Amino acid sequence: MPYVYDPNNVFAKILRGEIPCKKVLETDHSLAFHDIRPQAPVHILVIPKGPYVTFDHFAEAASPAEQADFVGAIGKVCALLGLKPGDGGGGYRLISNAGWAGVQEVPHLHVHILGGRVLGRMLPDRGSA
Ligand code: AMP
Repeated sequence: MPYVYDPNNVFAKILRGEIPCKKVLETDHSLAFHDIRPQAPVHILVIPKGPYVTFDHFAEAASPAEQADFVGAIGKVCALLGLKPGDGGGGYRLISNAGWAGVQEVPHLHVHILGGRVLGRMLPDRGSA
């Protein structure tokens, strides 16, 4: 089933300037801003400007320029915020939730960049997969 993009989602409204965000970086095809409910001392969202619902949607439908820009924007945010382990930063975690199993709240592709503390286990421990 093809993806249907909802232009009324909150990130589309941020991109149209209808609601504010605390911007960290803007590139030709991507925007990075602070998450409104941070889960760690550093919690940034990076989104493409195009109408993509999930990471897999973006991977199959976005242009090479959009894809390169998005990956580059994530790396730039890590550098800007001093997270890069290669430069002495403490590191970070990237998360992109998709669909009901991924518990995706906003249906516009976003990558969470989390850092600033030890982030613990990757998933809550439920005893088995
Ligand atoms: P999820 O779709 O579950 O990966 O997460 C969506 C994220 O968007 C959550 O961490 C929210 O706190 C965040 N969020 C929702 N509305 C806003 C907003 N207006 N500005 C910044 N972050 C937001």
